[in-house]
Amino acid sequence: MTEIAGFHETFWRRCNSCKKEIPYLGAYWVCNVSTCNRKRTGLVFCEVSCWDAHVPGMNHRESWAEERKAPTREEWERTLSGEDKVPRKRRTKAEMEAERKAQEEAAKPASTGPKIILRRSRAD
Ligand SMILES: [Zn+2]
Ligand SMILES: [Zn+2]
Repeated sequence: MTEIAGFHETFWRRCNSCKKEIPYLGAYWVCNVSTCNRKRTGLVFCEVSCWDAHVPGMNHRESWAEERKAPTREEWERTLSGEDKVPRKRRTKAEMEAERKAQEEAAKPASTGPKIILRRSRAD
């Protein structure tokens, strides 16, 4: 089992204001300001009042709290380990070979049948 920083078995994260535990699948609040609600490192709050408490310190001009739902343990584990990134398509050797052949075919001039060029002989 790999150790993932910030991963807890029993609860999702702690409220950034009062440090209360926010359970998996529990409702929580985030700040609407993008620098506050980054997916992995963003601030989370158990109550709107906790969100309220962070606003003066952050100097937000215009901000509000948005209600969210905590992920499941499995989802969060994936997020922390980076596995929720858009998966890069893995291709098999056969697929790559097929693609290479297709490209070679495409590079060839279109075959429209043999071209016959007639030249008159000016020998006589
Ligand atoms: Zn709180
Ligand atoms: Zn904020």
